[in-house]
Amino acid sequence: MFNPQTLLRPEIAQMEEYTPIQPFEVLSQRLGIPASQIVKLDANENPYGPLPAVAEALAEYPYYHIYPDPQQGELRAALSQFVGVPAAHILPSHGADEMLDLLCRLFLQPGDAIMNCPPTFGMYSFDAGLQNATVIDVWRRADFGVDVEGVEEKWRSKGMEEKGSSSPKLLFLTSPNNPSGTWLPDAELKRLLALPLLVVLDEAYVEFADQPSRASWVLEHDNLVILRTFSKAAGIAGLRLGYGICPLWLMEALWKFKQPYNVNVAAAVAGIASLRYADQIMAVVEKLKAERARLMNALNEIDFLRPHPSESNFILCDVVGRSGADVKQALEKQGVLVRYYSKPRLENCIRISVGRPDQTDRLLHALREI
Ligand SMILES: *Cc1c(COP(=O)(O)O)cnc(C)c1O
Repeated sequence: MFNPQTLLRPEIAQMEEYTPIQPFEVLSQRLGIPASQIVKLDANENPYGPLPAVAEALAEYPYYHIYPDPQQGELRAALSQFVGVPAAHILPSHGADEMLDLLCRLFLQPGDAIMNCPPTFGMYSFDAGLQNATVIDVWRRADFGVDVEGVEEKWRSKGMEEKGSSSPKLLFLTSPNNPSGTWLPDAELKRLLALPLLVVLDEAYVEFADQPSRASWVLEHDNLVILRTFSKAAGIAGLRLGYGICPLWLMEALWKFKQPYNVNVAAAVAGIASLRYADQIMAVVEKLKAERARLMNALNEIDFLRPHPSESNFILCDVVGRSGADVKQALEKQGVLVRYYSKPRLENCIRISVGRPDQTDRLLHALREI
């Protein structure tokens, strides 16, 4: 009998299933705590949400029945003002995640390779895996900095081994890194840009850093792509809006490759309204940075937590002398959600997103109850 499942690409059929996170409402029901009472500090979302101007712009927009502008002209002009790079270099996307997917599909064929610096954001190896590409991991140092010599060394040895035919094509870097909050210094980025690779620098959290974005570096380096998003600082993770800042040769390829209507009009309207009041977004970012400092001090006082320094809107903590899984569970029972890790280099760690002051208070109270 014909089994249509045999038509699937074999490597996809063999892939492990993705474990979806529990929707917020389901969790709230399970815990018996109203959603409004839950302190959600597990996904680095912005607790202040979108600016009031975004809700107004969405309510007033009259053209939802019309297809979006495939070239996203108005949004790209606003983004150009915001990042200080000509619009010709900017491609909006359905979240930064879509840019990652586009780049992997554009460059990787089965047998190709990427270089990855774990522990880091999981989507780089996930998207590379969908292309049946190899992921070459160069683990971060103990302080979560990128092992630059290690990357150079691995690149050299791979190039020799494979006679260049499958030397890695893409190097994924994240600054500030998720989940460690680590900044990648200019000098290290410069050294890595000297490798014959396309460097994808994910700046999803750059607004929270004390140092500037490297967006303008794209104008001087034709092997650099910067990824940014509205999900974290701008508070519209649910609307899905990100963008890539790319060299012009890559823009040409991306225009051919992307779906014409990859960014829906609601996301574009919300993005344009956010950028009109970018100063207000940056004021929210400053509030969160001040709260990060308060949270850091308070976490340092908790005897079973060792927080790592962070340039982002979250703090990674080693849990010492007890089980991180238990800490996560105990917090959850009190309606406080944090992210727990039990992966290599993140054994017994929790990551706590920076929230509003009242949420920090709830978290600290819950931690002291444990
Ligand atoms: C959250 C996050 C993203 C995803 O951004 P979206 O625009 O919501 O797709 C990308 N990179 C890192 C490191 C992130 O933590």
